[in-house]
Amino acid sequence: MKRTQSESLFQEAQQYIPGGVNSPVRAFKAVGGNPLFISKAKGPRITDADGNEFIDYVSSWGPLIFGHAHPKIVDAVSRQAQLGTSFGAPTELEIELAQKVVDAVPSIETVRLVSSGTEATLSALRLARGVTGRDKIVKFEGCYHGHGDSLLVKAGSGVLSLGLPDCPGIVSDLAKNTLTLPYNDAKGVKELFAKMGNEIACLIVEPIGGNMGVVPPQPGFLELLRKVTAEAGSLLIFDEVITGFRVSYGGAQKLYGVSPDLTCLGKIIGGGLPVGAYGGRKEIMDHIAPVGAVYQAGTLSGNPLAVTAGIEMLNLLSQPGVYEDLDKKSERLCNGYKANVDKLGVTATFTRVGSMFSMFFTDQEIISFDSVKTSDTELFKRYFNAMLEEGVYIAPSQFEAGFMSAVHTNDDIDQTIAAQSRALQKALG
Ligand SMILES: *Cc1c(COP(=O)(O)O)cnc(C)c1O
Repeated sequence: MKRTQSESLFQEAQQYIPGGVNSPVRAFKAVGGNPLFISKAKGPRITDADGNEFIDYVSSWGPLIFGHAHPKIVDAVSRQAQLGTSFGAPTELEIELAQKVVDAVPSIETVRLVSSGTEATLSALRLARGVTGRDKIVKFEGCYHGHGDSLLVKAGSGVLSLGLPDCPGIVSDLAKNTLTLPYNDAKGVKELFAKMGNEIACLIVEPIGGNMGVVPPQPGFLELLRKVTAEAGSLLIFDEVITGFRVSYGGAQKLYGVSPDLTCLGKIIGGGLPVGAYGGRKEIMDHIAPVGAVYQAGTLSGNPLAVTAGIEMLNLLSQPGVYEDLDKKSERLCNGYKANVDKLGVTATFTRVGSMFSMFFTDQEIISFDSVKTSDTELFKRYFNAMLEEGVYIAPSQFEAGFMSAVHTNDDIDQTIAAQSRALQKALG
């Protein structure tokens, strides 16, 4: 595979951009080698600067559930661009997207649009602290909630893949108010809330772990979180930046039937443009300015291009059968992977919820950050590079989810399975 163009772009990028990338997970640090520079993409396929084409399961890290450059989204965004790209004043479009989100997500009565998932989570946190008058927050090891100061403690893939133990630059007085527990640790949760529940403003959780690879909640875990937070007068925040509109039209809360107090969204609801959102019961959300005193603002919040893309995305997703189809395709791919793995005698454990899935090179049951860390990352490195050579683009880290899109065909999937078999053989040497 020719990579000369990507190599020279990466050299040039490093002169002007720290590490040559605008988000560290793009840097291929965990898998060796240099990142591919992407020049275009269509449907399930991306093309790099050297003209190599790949079947893509990164999906821009989750948003592109209808593939790249979907004609409906492209048309709508182009039309809106002609009408203006930003006004700094309210638009009817924002009502339409907000209404769709409120209708879809069980626990959301009102919603504030922002421009990234990070902004959504840090705003939700401020709101929870403002409403409860408490400082402490609880999060789980391996869950990533954006790069906000309070949340960048034991924060999953990006930090893990780079082997950064702790992030310098975070005020220790702030970090000490972030309490962490292992994911799925019901006993730990009960003990912590018994001890200091009345000091805890909120508990934030990915209802399906997605930033240490896919780690599903064990039966009863989300229900327990609901119960202990309610008893302690703490808010339960579901960070559904990945799972929202990914695992069902109403997100993980709809799938599992557990309602948080606040929900953070991002990724899919922007249709591939920068959007985030947080929402919940009106009585809580009304603490935000301009109604309440908790301040949060954004020059480009509710940006007309991004909101238009989001509306079109939700229109596509609300068609009948979309989620069943995504589930079937993802099952087909994972079954194919599993057959390859079994045939070659590779040790691997699979996790999947709908169209988000992982294959970990370990024999451990996947329930927490500690269990995913038992994976053979050296084997993953060779596997990742062999997959690239075979024309399949997966996330450059063992600790990331794979994402199926609605535009991957069975043919694309079968090609991927065949490519994976060859890649595994190469990786095994
Ligand atoms: C991606 C992600 C975020 C951060 O969103 P950005 O748009 O990258 O700021 C927050 N929470 C979860 C669960 C995510 O996957």
